[in-house]
Amino acid sequence: MTSDPLARITTALLDGERFVLASHVRPDGDSIGSQLALAHALRALGKTARIVNHDAPPAYLRTLPGADGIEVAAAVDGRFDAAVVLECGTLERTEVAGLDRQPVVNIDHHAGNAMYGALNWFDPTAAACAEMVHDLIAALDVALTPAIGAALYAGILTDTGSFRHANITARTFETCRDVAACGVDVAALAAAIYQNSSLGKLRLTGRLLNEMRLEADGRVAVLRIDEALLRETGCPPDDMEGVINLPLAARDVEAVIMLRTLDGATRVSLRSKGLVDVRAVAAAFGGGGHRNAAGCTLDVPGPDVEARLLARTVAAVTESGTHVAAAPGF
Ligand code: 5GP
Ligand code: MN
Repeated sequence: MTSDPLARITTALLDGERFVLASHVRPDGDSIGSQLALAHALRALGKTARIVNHDAPPAYLRTLPGADGIEVAAAVDGRFDAAVVLECGTLERTEVAGLDRQPVVNIDHHAGNAMYGALNWFDPTAAACAEMVHDLIAALDVALTPAIGAALYAGILTDTGSFRHANITARTFETCRDVAACGVDVAALAAAIYQNSSLGKLRLTGRLLNEMRLEADGRVAVLRIDEALLRETGCPPDDMEGVINLPLAARDVEAVIMLRTLDGATRVSLRSKGLVDVRAVAAAFGGGGHRNAAGCTLDVPGPDVEARLLARTVAAVTESGTHVAAAPGF
């Protein structure tokens, strides 16, 4: 047997028959895209593949082929030949109980992955987990279909911040090349994700930008969402994809902190430009993610912890040493 994790996982999937595919809580485009692409490929091989997540896919992903078959549950019963956990740094972050009773296959690209599987394929150089799934599907010798391609593209488009983050490599475009070649209408898919929101989201966006706070000479933007804002604007809670990126459109803004009160805790999302490392900021508060997109939860929220979060983010911007907006070519 080879020690190459991709080869070992390929063999395990070809040998098995019954699979469950999980990802992290509040799944995003790369979670759902990676899961759907692999599920379609396994089914093309005649295998059964259930997708089980703790939370439903966000509305903007529900038109992806197969999304209506995704199960929402806090536990899985029964025996599977493997539980394939995609795009998830720790097994706990699935918040799906019972996966640990299965042989776990861990496929992920988040820095700091805990290597919790019986088989682990961890590649932090992948811009999206979907890039890894693309290579796995090739290794399984399954031809891309429009359904698989659409799922892969959704993962890449969203995890690169619509082709803006610093995680993009030639491999990203090689994957997208294969997606385009298999007949996916990439423009229609982008429209389904980014031009399909509620009017409430538009109103929320206006309020958020109007009430945005700027810190560190305008290099850090702070957005705040609470129940009252959602109620007043009529924005559905799962229709906020992309609003966090908007402040980065300003030349001077290098990092964004978005705070959202949720069931007594505060969810924090962080985004940045270039070398500004917001993953390290999130990790200092028990979270994780990627250099340009990360998040954490403040279980005991309050002004003190928010001030520390802001100070850490300002330090990340200062330490990055480059004012990206002023760099040549911008
Ligand atoms: P988002 O802001 O869209 O929720 O998350 C951005 C990125 O950070 C995603 O890759 C997501 O998986 C990761 N992330 C968000 N929140 C957490 C968290 O609480 N813990 C960890 N480990 N990663 C997170
Ligand atoms: Mn990802």
